Amino acid sequence: MSSTWHILGAGSLGSLWACRLARSGKAVRLILRGQQRLAAYERKGGLTLMEQDVQHHYAIPAESFDAPGPIHRLLVACKAYDAAPAVARLAPRLAHGAELILLQNGLGSQDEVAEQVPHARCIFASSTEGAFREADWQVRFAGHGFNWLGDPASPGMPTWFDDLHEAGIPAEWALDIPARLWRKLALNCAINPLTVLHDCQNGGLLGHLTEVDPLCDELVNLLHRCGQPEAASDLHEEVQRVILATAANYSSMYQDVRHGRRTEVHYLLGHACRAAGRHGLAVPQLEHLHRRLVDNLQARGLRSD
Ligand code: NAP
Repeated sequence: MSSTWHILGAGSLGSLWACRLARSGKAVRLILRGQQRLAAYERKGGLTLMEQDVQHHYAIPAESFDAPGPIHRLLVACKAYDAAPAVARLAPRLAHGAELILLQNGLGSQDEVAEQVPHARCIFASSTEGAFREADWQVRFAGHGFNWLGDPASPGMPTWFDDLHEAGIPAEWALDIPARLWRKLALNCAINPLTVLHDCQNGGLLGHLTEVDPLCDELVNLLHRCGQPEAASDLHEEVQRVILATAANYSSMYQDVRHGRRTEVHYLLGHACRAAGRHGLAVPQLEHLHRRLVDNLQARGLRSD
């Protein structure tokens, strides 16, 4: 088994992982979407990682989708809506028993990816690290955080897990990864869409708690119905704690909308509404929020799926 880290998507999080793995001496190869992006990357000669006032350049090799050679380990670092189509294109290169690490926020994209590659192991990740692109091939490490990785289908920790510690990537193998992803999704549903609708920082929701609380009630019911009682525990309190602790921040969904980018709503609030529908659970507040958000995105000319 090759120990090379192939990284699909040299955006914010993919570049952050690539630079840290490369500087610790691991073999890393970026996979870019086509020859044009590859040529642009090669002109630049590598990725630049900015941390506070320090910047480092890493000449990490890159290739396009159709490069030859098998892939044994793939970090999937594109947006949730791009993950399954991108992995499907790479499927012919995935070795039997290949391992994929899925960094996507929300839920639903992981199962879409797994359907494309039944012969591979899919490891789900939940990250609270923060990074953003200042320019193409240049990423700023904006918020220290943590990463939980786990495989709902198999509890064994992968042999490469120590690579993360050696690269200074804070991470833990989590047997309860579905609960962690559900909890993060619930926090997102209670906060992010309202920041878009009220055009405010997270702290602005302190003036709209009468809207937040009923959403939390429905999310708690939904989490119980989906077999995720730990993810439901003290949700109201944690939502309020997050609103206070991040009062001056703009949510990721708010930032996507502000920059005219497609949001990941389909895998966040959309997933919550679809899960409720599958369980026959009425969630009128969440449904209403979803409709308002979709209308708002469409009025801005943004995709709402
Ligand atoms: P991003 O900056 O937009 O990067 C996505 C990258 O994927 C882009 O470089 C894009 O390529 C690439 N891509 C898309 N389709 C591709 C394809 N078919 N082939 C090759 N590359 C492809 O996104 P991000 O912020 O890193 O987010 C990635 C995931 O991590 C999201 O689900 C997000 O919610 C989650 N997350 C992000 C953060 C964060 O701080 N950024 C934190 C926690 C979780 P181009 O450059 O060519 O467009």
